[in-house]
Amino acid sequence: MPKTNCQSTEALRTAFAAAQSYLANLSQAPVAATVDINTLRNRLGRELTAQGFPPEQVVAELLEDVTGGIVGCAGGRFFAWVVGGSVEASLAADWLTTAWDQNAALYASAPAAAVVEEVSGRWLKEILGLPEHASFAFVNGCQMAHVTCLAAARHEVLAKRNWDVERQGLSGAPRIRILAGQRHGSVDRAVRLLGMGTSQIVGVAADTLGRVQAEALRRELESDSDSPTIVVLQAGEINTGSFDDFNVLIPIAKSRGAWVHVDGAFGLWAAASPKYKHLVRGMEAADSWATDGHKWLNVPYDCGYSFVAHPEAHQAAMSHRAAYLTFNAGARDAMDWNPEWSRRARGFPTYAALRELGREGVSNLIERCCAHARSLVARIGQLPGAQVMSEAIINQGLVRFLDPKPGATEADHTKRTNDVIAAILATGEAFFSGSDWNGHRVMRVSVCNWQTSEEDVDRSVAAVGKVLGGKASAQVR
Ligand SMILES: *Cc1c(COP(=O)(O)O)cnc(C)c1O
Repeated sequence: MPKTNCQSTEALRTAFAAAQSYLANLSQAPVAATVDINTLRNRLGRELTAQGFPPEQVVAELLEDVTGGIVGCAGGRFFAWVVGGSVEASLAADWLTTAWDQNAALYASAPAAAVVEEVSGRWLKEILGLPEHASFAFVNGCQMAHVTCLAAARHEVLAKRNWDVERQGLSGAPRIRILAGQRHGSVDRAVRLLGMGTSQIVGVAADTLGRVQAEALRRELESDSDSPTIVVLQAGEINTGSFDDFNVLIPIAKSRGAWVHVDGAFGLWAAASPKYKHLVRGMEAADSWATDGHKWLNVPYDCGYSFVAHPEAHQAAMSHRAAYLTFNAGARDAMDWNPEWSRRARGFPTYAALRELGREGVSNLIERCCAHARSLVARIGQLPGAQVMSEAIINQGLVRFLDPKPGATEADHTKRTNDVIAAILATGEAFFSGSDWNGHRVMRVSVCNWQTSEEDVDRSVAAVGKVLGGKASAQVR
């Protein structure tokens, strides 16, 4: 049967209606999943058939099968890990990105997408206070932003020693040292993927909030001043949201010829707020920066950004030319800056988010999340049996729950904290995750969603209160 251009309008309409109803129901629906893995496997693990099904049936059955297995992270009471939502224009632009299905590898294959990335890259540098001359790449998340930035770093520190890593590889190359304090695991994975080896990561002593200590950095740099060196600093430590003292640390690292990379997956966004930008003072002197759009900017997944202060090094690490491709001298081809080849036109949702919010909208979003995190941590901390472990510096804070029995040990508090986290989840009212911090089990409070309101904070505190003090506490023990 010949197909028309609108082959599956019914499937698309069903999907649109379902998306709208999911979003509209976020405040009523449980935040956590309500079905277990076996249920999902039973429903979704259908036979792959020889013949397919009509698209509207596929979509309708998908909707049925995933019921209860979609987490409410798009809404305002999801505080686990560091997960953002999607502002409206950004979500709409993301839908269009999928419909347009551009291959944004080259200007030639996706002209509007290439220009949108060019423009959004400029806006991002402006809003994040990064050098105007920095090059950038729109990647799928901060993990790949690290890979991209550290590939540029690897190029540069070895090129300075007359070693062409893109051509010669790492065998026989001078060993690259990576100095880092407490860090997100994606840094280690980037180091692995780039063949530098995690055994070359040298831990630098940090304070209790996870901030690299200047003396320790100086000592490590001087202990081996011959090796090419990359220093990784943080804007927004994963547990406490603390910031390295860039003003002090970057000059120390640069004076010894190191490349400085900043992991600012969420914390770099402090730069967008007049109230919080003092926290990132001095970070513009770094050599590369990695951050996310899909966390605090509230762009749908997948969306991360790398910025490199040395465009030649960035391009040398990524660019590839092939005869069958069409390059445009006057345009920006993402392939020159990105690790992927074919890729989603992920600039559109960023462009839309920045247009919807404007500079002040972004700043309000950042400040609002920080205020909610502060309030959640402080109010939960006042509940019976709760203890604040780290107040929210920005949008992250830590609490834990103490076992009230006399002589309770650290293991008892750990169990109690894990049990309370699970019990809160079971209420469906809010979603928090756990972590280990300075030898203690803690519950993280992370606020990244534009939707989180004071009412959400009230509801969430009430849910925790009920678990701690109400009838629910019986189930907790
Ligand atoms: C989330 C996060 C990452 C990894 O980012 P993805 O977008 O998940 O790839 C890296 N560093 C920090 C501090 C993070 O919070």
